[in-house]
Amino acid sequence: MRRAEIMKKYFKFGLLGIIVFSTVSLASLKGEESLFKREMVNSPLVREVFSFIAQNREKIIQEWIYLTEIPAPSGHEEKRAEYLKKQFEASGLDEVFIDTSGNVIGIWKGTGRGKKIIISAHMDTVFQGVWEIKVKREGNLLKAPGIGDDTANLVNLLWSIRALKQAGFKPKNTYYFMGSVGEEVGFVGMEAFLDSTKEKFDLVIALDGDLGKVHYGALGFGGGRITFRGPGAHTMQSRGVPNPNLAVAKAIERICEIELRSKPPEKWTIINVGMIGGGKVRNAVSQESYFTVDLRSADQEELKKAQRKIKKICQDVAADVGVELKMNLNERSKAYQIPGAGDSFLVRTVFDILKFLEVKEIEVDPLGSTEANAGIERGILSVNLGRTYGRFKHTLREEAEIDGLFLAMKQILLLIYCLK
Ligand SMILES: [Zn+2]
Repeated sequence: MRRAEIMKKYFKFGLLGIIVFSTVSLASLKGEESLFKREMVNSPLVREVFSFIAQNREKIIQEWIYLTEIPAPSGHEEKRAEYLKKQFEASGLDEVFIDTSGNVIGIWKGTGRGKKIIISAHMDTVFQGVWEIKVKREGNLLKAPGIGDDTANLVNLLWSIRALKQAGFKPKNTYYFMGSVGEEVGFVGMEAFLDSTKEKFDLVIALDGDLGKVHYGALGFGGGRITFRGPGAHTMQSRGVPNPNLAVAKAIERICEIELRSKPPEKWTIINVGMIGGGKVRNAVSQESYFTVDLRSADQEELKKAQRKIKKICQDVAADVGVELKMNLNERSKAYQIPGAGDSFLVRTVFDILKFLEVKEIEVDPLGSTEANAGIERGILSVNLGRTYGRFKHTLREEAEIDGLFLAMKQILLLIYCLK
């Protein structure tokens, strides 16, 4: 591969990427090669699948609209699941079923001793209580809650299968295509499937996020809410009374001074104090004051280290000011990295495909928050691939670009073709 080019473009971290490549990853550079070759695009099969999706453009858009208008807030995915199951069956997959969690699984058995690969898109949306959805089409845009996240990828998944089947593709690998439940409430469906299955999977490819964004690591979350309490007093009697607001101010100042790593990307860590509040009236000392910390890291040790520092600061400040302390920090959402994942054949192949497709703003980093995390957590090489370009995700005015969907579909088709 053209190393200089990759160094420049690989990470959104810019210079950091170069440092990572030249220090950490040289050893593994030889081992893992991209599977993508430009000539592949001229193969009869790839031509066939590309022309198939081009010919079916309007049908694809119509089905995208149809699927989006089936409401599926997390926990209520049944109707979408039913539809997807029917389509999986009709497309000629070898085995189709709904598992105990409600995930729709369609297995395409391989011809040889290939890998076992999960490719998933999530069926659920964040729109609890929204039971009427009408998609608006305006030029290259579709507008509706859930149009992008992640309905666009259900369509990508379905039509990738149909296109490959129609062109006579015979995979060497065995593919588990999956419409998952509960992604938006903590990857519930994927976690449950991986926990319950007896199969050993080699790769997890989660279809989620914007086109061009590729994550090969699992971002950890360690923030939470910190509360200080005191006895309170009227201003006139407040001399010497411990003030929770003062504790908040002191703690925030010191937390913001914690030194956090920004490189290499696998150690990247960040803290933001997003909310602050306390007291009920102007003329009394607050009895209770709080602030929130959003703490994220690519690395579990860095996350723990930062959490320990936050705890120490808050304890010291509470003792110093003379107030009570209550801390609620997230201990569950851990960070996971697979050594060498950033240089793996999978990431390199995806990167080359995105370059070939001239996708703008390619970002490859270890800061993922998709179902791929469930795979990474279990030591399975995993990435996520985007669905299209869009705006206003997780809001009622969500938008998605039509042309971007076809680009994303090509990305998936080429990846499956490369993996075989
Ligand atoms: Zn999503």
